Amino acid sequence: MTLKLTDVVLTYPDGDRTLTALDHVGLAVAPGEFTAVVGPSGSGKSSLLAVAATLIAPASGDVSVAGHDVSTASPATRTRIRRDNIGIVFQQANLLSSLTTLEQLLVMAHLAGRPVRDAAVRARELLHAVGLADKERRRPHELSGGERQRVNIARALMNSPEVLLVDEPTSALDHRRGEQIVSLLADLTKENGLATVMVTHDLAALSAVDTVLAMADGRLTAEVPAISGRAAR
Ligand code: ADP
Ligand code: MG
Repeated sequence: MTLKLTDVVLTYPDGDRTLTALDHVGLAVAPGEFTAVVGPSGSGKSSLLAVAATLIAPASGDVSVAGHDVSTASPATRTRIRRDNIGIVFQQANLLSSLTTLEQLLVMAHLAGRPVRDAAVRARELLHAVGLADKERRRPHELSGGERQRVNIARALMNSPEVLLVDEPTSALDHRRGEQIVSLLADLTKENGLATVMVTHDLAALSAVDTVLAMADGRLTAEVPAISGRAAR
């Protein structure tokens, strides 16, 4: 398994008490598997991604990413794992307003200390894959919401991660563009052998995923019954 969470508990301080955001959560995602986690607002979806992304250390439980045991890793090692092995797509694209599409991607390679020439080749391949080959010189304000989200996704793949974590990618998009983004994520997952987790409260986003899990009150429960069976496709 490329991504594995075992018996993860995450709590936040909440006045005199603690709030349990993740309640003994287990999750395993194989290479090339596109997993969706659905659940209402406040159920713990973003917390789950933050733990998988090594941004927050859980109170207990184990997290393994691309063969690295994150739970026992030092902060410096966690940062390296996040940079080299994990692609993160947040809800808002958070693109840098002064940079072109191509430059948004090159920044990632620069941060990882990779040679600029190789990075430019990789960046153009990715922009082609997300359908933005002809928009590499645009700045964010010259792109539509869906295009910005595509840049966001391409940027997350710049350092060839094994794990892709995606938070509510369709929330700012209309239905059709939302579907296109999810279908793009499905294709990229297969083509790159990614272990992908997408959290969403948008049930319409699920047609292209392999596995659907339900999050409620910090518990990750069985596959959503009404749409089970997709994994067998
Ligand atoms: P979702 O992404 O499903 O909306 P979250 O993971 O953001 O859910 O939140 C789960 C629970 O944890 C909610 O009750 C939320 O209020 C709480 N929570 C999230 N982040 C924090 C934080 N940094 N400090 C305290 N409580 C938090
Ligand atoms: Mg959230």
